[in-house]
Amino acid sequence: MTKWNNSDIYRIARERMVETQIKARGIKDSRVINAMLKVPRHLFVDEALQEQAYGDYPLPIGEGQTISQPYIVALMTEALELKGTERVLEIGTGSGYQTAILAELALWVYTIERFYKLSKRAQKILLEVLGYKNISFKVGDGSLGWKEAAPFDAIIITAATPEIPKPLIDQLAEGGRIVAPVGSEYSQTLIKGIKKGGKLYTTPIEEVRFVKLVGAYGFKE
Ligand code: SAH
Repeated sequence: MTKWNNSDIYRIARERMVETQIKARGIKDSRVINAMLKVPRHLFVDEALQEQAYGDYPLPIGEGQTISQPYIVALMTEALELKGTERVLEIGTGSGYQTAILAELALWVYTIERFYKLSKRAQKILLEVLGYKNISFKVGDGSLGWKEAAPFDAIIITAATPEIPKPLIDQLAEGGRIVAPVGSEYSQTLIKGIKKGGKLYTTPIEEVRFVKLVGAYGFKE
């Protein structure tokens, strides 16, 4: 008789998530696929929600915020074109799940969260439980970026913004990629930007809905 334990069950749920939600919808980067197979997403939500962690939807994480749908995490990460040498800036740590995926794929991740409580919980899981050693955390307004650590090879904004904050464009390296949901509070277009000759060239990816970026270059509270 096979004995099943929770980690087997979550591994199987993760494999199914990757087949039906990630690969079936066209995500091709094998490094992104492997990271999504590896990172235990259920650890980033409350115990009561763990069985839903591999479902095809966002989930609440407290403070009125959400952990993004798995497919959206994969789509945004693939657009950053990470090879393993990059220094990445993430705005909106939230649960820390996207942070873990980035830490698997880049050299170093700098992540900023507005809520102290969410940042602390993410730090606990990422540093103490999972043992990542390539993540720096900051609590504050990520729309201002992280000047001391700039320039970044890739920047990801995981909250809706009316426009890409200027400090973030300034802190993006030449040739760097930025991915962000840009639009109104209620609907946005996922945008990919590449910086060339000091200028950002953007292309739309798809329609999305995120919680809002609240800050100097985002929305008002
Ligand atoms: N990547 C996260 C997404 C969380 S939702 C995950 O999948 O879990 C977006 C997060 O952005 C929220 O936690 C919210 O508090 C945070 N946020 C909103 N405005 C911000 C700002 N100006 N600076 C930093 N974080 C911000």
